[in-house]
Amino acid sequence: MTTTVERPALSADYDVLIVGAGFAGMYQLYRLRNLGVRTAVIEAGSDVGGTWYWNRYPGARCDVASLEYSYSWSKDVQNDWVWSELMASQPEIERYLQYVVDRFDLRRDVLFNTRVKSAHYDETAKGWTLTTDRGDTLRAPFTIMATGCLSAPMLPNIPGIDSFQGTSVQTSLWPKEGVELTGKRVGIIGTGSSAVQAIPEIAKVAGSLTVFQRTPTYTWPANNRPLTDEDQRKVRETYDQLRETERNSLAGIALGLGGALYAAPTTKIMDLSEEERRAALDQHGFAVTRMFADVPTNMEANSVARELYGEMVRRVVKDPETAASLMPTEHPIGCKRAVIDTNYFGTFNQPHVSLVDLRKDPIAEITPGGIRTASREHDLDVIIYATGFDAMTGALNRIDIRGRGGERLIEKWADGPRNYLGLMVEGFPNLFTITGPGSPSVLSNMMVSIEQHVDWITDCLEHLRSHGIETMEPELEAEDRWVDHVNNVASGTMYVAPSCHSWYLGENVPGKVRQFMPYIGGVGRYRQKCDEIAANGYSGFVLGKAALAAV
Ligand code: FAD
Ligand code: NAP
Repeated sequence: MTTTVERPALSADYDVLIVGAGFAGMYQLYRLRNLGVRTAVIEAGSDVGGTWYWNRYPGARCDVASLEYSYSWSKDVQNDWVWSELMASQPEIERYLQYVVDRFDLRRDVLFNTRVKSAHYDETAKGWTLTTDRGDTLRAPFTIMATGCLSAPMLPNIPGIDSFQGTSVQTSLWPKEGVELTGKRVGIIGTGSSAVQAIPEIAKVAGSLTVFQRTPTYTWPANNRPLTDEDQRKVRETYDQLRETERNSLAGIALGLGGALYAAPTTKIMDLSEEERRAALDQHGFAVTRMFADVPTNMEANSVARELYGEMVRRVVKDPETAASLMPTEHPIGCKRAVIDTNYFGTFNQPHVSLVDLRKDPIAEITPGGIRTASREHDLDVIIYATGFDAMTGALNRIDIRGRGGERLIEKWADGPRNYLGLMVEGFPNLFTITGPGSPSVLSNMMVSIEQHVDWITDCLEHLRSHGIETMEPELEAEDRWVDHVNNVASGTMYVAPSCHSWYLGENVPGKVRQFMPYIGGVGRYRQKCDEIAANGYSGFVLGKAALAAV
């Protein structure tokens, strides 16, 4: 159910402002409301959902089992909500969040259709002033950025992009009313997760589909399926244990639900004979390349796995030239965010689906009638940009955030993001970021990381209130140590291999400094670290006492 809400009246007395009404913002609102904290949420979209509000493209769905990619904080919701598929589609995930929001009456504190333009710290008032595109000015001692890691869409800088006379659409800004694709000549630029999900679905209805690929993708079968009553029953019987396993795991995922994709491998591909490798390929198909412990860590093992992967692409894709173009050759398996699919490669066997390999035939310009590559013009009715996001820092940097002394966050982060625990930035007191760079965030089941951050921030605010503390920010040394630690644990891994170009490294954004942004240490270890710091009276943070409690 979607309830239309009047815009709530603004108050002069907020304690905490939250920006963003996705899974993070909504859980944060719930926690703070229960503490009796006066809170408003500011959201650019017209409803809750965040990622699942904006990304409505055909085929959009999560790639973590929904029984795990869901809130764990309400047992009632956990017991009452029934997921229909192993990995739910966008409409179902959006409905789920709407259901939670309605159940806890959360919408009444959200200012929808409102984008935060600036957030400035006022040293005298010891608080934040936010301005919006609707002319609002909101003030509160604390601000929490729940603005998302994959919420700042990227449009490529291709000449003529505005000249196209047909329909142009981004997967990440897909209109609610949908896009007419039936019988149309559709072109899609990009072959990342969004495109890989969309391509097979669009091919079902389009008159023709042309895929413009710059970098081929390693993608693994989702093995999605309807969930049976038996599946649900089994999980419900052990839900507490499952959630505890997630919280202490590497990636926020408990074993067993996602099939081979998430099984923790123990054997090594280098210990197998050539015959054994072939037999494994025959038995497991693409999944074989994710089943060995040495593939993510040993380049030689990775090369062997890549050969098996190529063999599998050639088995599925009938046209040898298309198969060769679809086979990634330049980057190792595992250096980019894993992509999962349903019949991606098989889609290229359909006569109305074609691939343009931009490495051989680059895009010259967008024209009024379609896309012109070096070799020819491709006439199109619809161009879909599945061209990704300015990840992790993009949503924050699109807001004019200024801390103490008017320092701009975008300038502080000019050489890459710097913060403590991914939660707070030195020089920007009382500003929290949920799943920010420097935390496990996008390397995990995000629901687990979101809940951990929201709980930590809420406990922290409670601590500040009960101890009469007015301001909090990291010590510079603690921040520097944390940034070094984040970089050190990533160094030498596949993620930062010179041949790897990923959005984790910010390399998809022109001018962005190459820095591996998330924390690779694992959600369990990270949680322990955050808890220790809190238990030690928030060591590494400067806490400023006030005469009176502020929150
Ligand atoms: P978001 O959902 O991104 O919400 C942030 C909100 O902040 C948005 O609604 C945005 O409009 C708002 N906002 C931003 N800036 C402003 C501003 N200046 N003013 C006002 N409002 C603002 N993660 C997984 O773990 N598993 C998955 O399977 C998975 N699938 C994904 C599929 C897609 C297509 C995408 C794009 C991401 C996926 N993710 C997945 C990551 C996903 O982003 C997170 O799982 C999660 O939904 C993030 O929630 P959030 O509330 O932190 O941020
Ligand atoms: P992405 O992974 O960054 O992919 C963007 C694609 O656009 C890439 O293929 C890129 O090519 C291409 N591209 C960008 N600019 C281009 C240009 N100028 N010309 C040609 N091609 C261009 O973005 P995404 O697919 O939206 O996914 C982003 C992240 O969102 C994922 O990694 C994942 O975390 C999340 N997500 C998850 C799911 C899911 O299954 N649950 C689905 C969608 C998204 P290059 O590689 O050459 O740059």
